[in-house]
Amino acid sequence: MSKGGARHRARGTEQFILHDLYYLDCIRAALVSKGSLQNYGSILVKNDRIIGRGYNRLIQFRDKIRQGYANHAEINAINDALRQKRDTRGSTLYVAGFFPTERMLCLRSEPNYTCTRCIPGMEEYGVKLLAVPTLSGWETFPMDEVEGVVRNFRDHTPGKNTHEKRLSAWHNPYTIDFLLERVHSIDPFHSL
Ligand SMILES: [Zn+2]
Repeated sequence: MSKGGARHRARGTEQFILHDLYYLDCIRAALVSKGSLQNYGSILVKNDRIIGRGYNRLIQFRDKIRQGYANHAEINAINDALRQKRDTRGSTLYVAGFFPTERMLCLRSEPNYTCTRCIPGMEEYGVKLLAVPTLSGWETFPMDEVEGVVRNFRDHTPGKNTHEKRLSAWHNPYTIDFLLERVHSIDPFHSL
């Protein structure tokens, strides 16, 4: 890539992570998460309206979808919409996060998704598209392609375990601190 191209792409990434409202909403939610290896936040969007928000945390008593001891952000966003009696069918689920120890944002050039646990819940409640962040913006997949994306990641990414694979796949220079220094309205409790 030419120098000009690299600069252009870097500006594109900063434009995206510092200004995209859906990305910032996911990161706001991820900041509340108490995940030890990765912190994720998720929003569920239908007709350009946010109908649910979630972050990885313990399941709540009346949740519709029970996933185990700790629910992922994706499932918590769907539960949040269901609690408010919102119709999740035809929605798009956005999920983004960061590594709390390494401080790196979960971003790469190629679109990537690594979670098989959330696919059945997303399918059952009619999520139509999954959106993941890349260095050049959101990339979306129809739900029936998501399993292939996860399989491709598992089979073709170097690393001894999923966490190592994620770190190597998402290697990039952008940190959560870079974001927090520049985005002053990223109060984690805002609108949650
Ligand atoms: Zn998940």
